[in-house]
Amino acid sequence: MAIPQSFIQELLARVDVVEVVGRYVQLKKGGANFMGLCPFHGEKSPSFSVSPAKQFFHCFGCGKNGNAIGFLMEHAGMTFVEAVKDLAQNIGMQVPEDDASPQDRARAAEQRQKQATLTDVLEKAGESFRKHLRNSPKAIEYFKGRGLSGEIAKHFGLGYAPEGWRSLASVFPDYQDPLLAESGLVIVNQEDGEEEKRYDRFRDRVMFPIRNVKGECIGFGGRVLFEGTPKYLNSPETPVFSKGRELYGLFEARNALRDAGYVLVTEGYMDVVALAQLGFPNAVATLGTACTTDHVQKLFRFTDNVVFSFDGDSAGRRAARKALDGALAYATDVRSVKFLFLPQEHDPDSYIREFGKEAFAHCVTEAMPLSRFLIEVAREGCDLHTAEGRAHMASNAKPMWMALPDGALKRQLLSEIAELADLGNHELQDLWMPAAPAAAPARSGEFKKSSKFKPREPYAPKTYKRGTRLIPQGRADHAARVLLSHMDLWEDLSTEDHNLLCELAPPHGPLFVWLDHQHHEHGNQAWGALREGLREHESEDLALRVMATAFTPLMDDEGKPMPESLTPEQQRKEAGLELRGILNKILFESLDAQMKEAIAEAAADPTAMLRYKALFERRKQLGLIPQKLVESQD
Ligand SMILES: [Zn+2]
Repeated sequence: MAIPQSFIQELLARVDVVEVVGRYVQLKKGGANFMGLCPFHGEKSPSFSVSPAKQFFHCFGCGKNGNAIGFLMEHAGMTFVEAVKDLAQNIGMQVPEDDASPQDRARAAEQRQKQATLTDVLEKAGESFRKHLRNSPKAIEYFKGRGLSGEIAKHFGLGYAPEGWRSLASVFPDYQDPLLAESGLVIVNQEDGEEEKRYDRFRDRVMFPIRNVKGECIGFGGRVLFEGTPKYLNSPETPVFSKGRELYGLFEARNALRDAGYVLVTEGYMDVVALAQLGFPNAVATLGTACTTDHVQKLFRFTDNVVFSFDGDSAGRRAARKALDGALAYATDVRSVKFLFLPQEHDPDSYIREFGKEAFAHCVTEAMPLSRFLIEVAREGCDLHTAEGRAHMASNAKPMWMALPDGALKRQLLSEIAELADLGNHELQDLWMPAAPAAAPARSGEFKKSSKFKPREPYAPKTYKRGTRLIPQGRADHAARVLLSHMDLWEDLSTEDHNLLCELAPPHGPLFVWLDHQHHEHGNQAWGALREGLREHESEDLALRVMATAFTPLMDDEGKPMPESLTPEQQRKEAGLELRGILNKILFESLDAQMKEAIAEAAADPTAMLRYKALFERRKQLGLIPQKLVESQD
């Protein structure tokens, strides 16, 4: 019987290894850990340690170690399945019988198969649109008129859907195939008593394939060439396409996001393509919908800096307001969200054509930070000279402020709002959070536990390219040890940090990629649970090797381990500082290498200098610029 991996990890997050071992071994608290006489070898003074934070036991005498499952197998002689059942029974969890019923499994497989089939159908249609583009002078003329090169057209897979009601019939032998309707390519119309009508959705339009982050075609946007309505037409919602979640151009921009250090979110696919042509390949667009929290969350998986660009009219203003709402919950202290408002008559394309690339880049730098936009929105229509107006402003600001994650930004905004409202910080806080119960202190060594087992929503994992970056092994080992011991530190890191770690050469890079996926699918886990999830993973050996030294305690004169003197909170804090130190070193080396690369390319590629400047700024921000370089820049 196969027990699903996700269940085992959830189980290990909820049992307490101290309690499990304590059933067989007398344990005594010594510092942050528990100590006892090793049950696996004879001894008179204790070298057997159990860590509640790591959910792992370790003997410094004989070297035996493991998690709760391992302990029951080794000590009580249970099989793996018996150990899992025993643990589950003790905490009232039901061991699922191999995930699901055969019917459910069949249905899930069918679903996956259908999605794969739909993307195949869409891909095939995309190919035919590209072919038609080559033979359509007026479509080529249209793209040329927008200043697009063949290279950009190819990068985005642009195409043309010809005139005629059933052009796709020449691509798909069976025009009645229900997949054509399900993929949104063909419209089926049947009115009462009339014969069913089938016809192509996209006719005489230039076509923009919409790809998911894996690069699969999941839908299309089509634009009329000249006059006609609707001007823009998108694929309908299908099992593979949901416009509230997808962003046009994200797949095409993924590498540029890294180089530029930020993503530019625009209003339409023509903006994205035009911007790429004009030297801003780091743009994406929502698909005829306001920016949602799902969109924002997706973007922050690729970069720490998001700049929303809007037309300066009232529609743009409304869209910006929605984007603000979507972004609030993600505006942590390591991220930046900005709002760029162009002059009323301009979109990014026309702005760059009129004022140039540098001028636009300047607009991006000067874009309005989230904090300022929030205040502007809150005070809109409020007369701050009256008590009523100030109170109104505060009540506008409240829901937005509440949505922000805790941190320095949130606190500063509270002061700013309080000042505008003519109130003291504490007065405003009391007003907004009456009798807020003080956060219950975490029980020492207790790992955060969820109340019930529920499989998480499926999520599309971010695809990291298989890393090649080499750094000194000791440094990479060190980072791995800290993060496997304190997985919750992962969410304190920025996207830049995540990328750095995930793109290290194997086996380190793949280990961090795995950890990132674990974090999204299961949340934080103690090492005891992570160890179980790593079975047969390519980086399992690495993880075991680095963790073997994670338990080395200080020894006393008799060679016996001394109790750990730091509390779990102190340990976590120390670990966080340790990790920051390692990451700064890695970051420094990486920026250095990229700057050298940019300089080398500057002669042949004019954008390399912009990239160099961005890298230089980043390094200056980090305080990592050697004085010599600063002088030579000025
Ligand atoms: Zn032992």
